[in-house]
Amino acid sequence: MERLYAPWRLAYIKNEDGTPPPTPGSCIFCDKPAEGVGRDAANYIVLRGDACFVILNAFPYSNGHVMVLPFRHIASPAEMTDDEGAEMMRLCSFLCVVLGEVFRPHGFNIGINVGSAAGAGIAAHLHLHIVPRWNGDTNFMPVIGDVKVIPETLEQVYTNLVNAIAARERSAPGPIE
Ligand SMILES: [Zn+2]
Repeated sequence: MERLYAPWRLAYIKNEDGTPPPTPGSCIFCDKPAEGVGRDAANYIVLRGDACFVILNAFPYSNGHVMVLPFRHIASPAEMTDDEGAEMMRLCSFLCVVLGEVFRPHGFNIGINVGSAAGAGIAAHLHLHIVPRWNGDTNFMPVIGDVKVIPETLEQVYTNLVNAIAARERSAPGPIE
């Protein structure tokens, strides 16, 4: 599917944003978090948990499209530990709250494609999609034009999400003693 925006994608594809070029056989979902917290903004890593992290989808289906992934390079929920599974779902729940606050979607598509046969783009590293949806977002543009309109840049989406998460953390009560 074609999209109307794209300027930063070229820099991403051409590695002009300082991203190290991928090495053959490497996994982008392992490499991005391994570059360190200092590169999280450049890598669009929204949140790090103990076993899983949240990253923007660089090629979003809709505004605010994020993914929740285990740090471990595993391909299927069959390989997940209980801790990874629990944290993946906890982060999914939290992101639904934050995405709801920031983008006011009318609904979400949430899902995992396991294996390339099921449509996974990067089948080797498990990732759960959270795609905000709005009434009428399947309008004539994607249906007739095969073009999707994304109203915000990835930078704007990233900044809005990180700020909303930080605001929640500031206002949250401390841990219960
Ligand atoms: Zn990986």
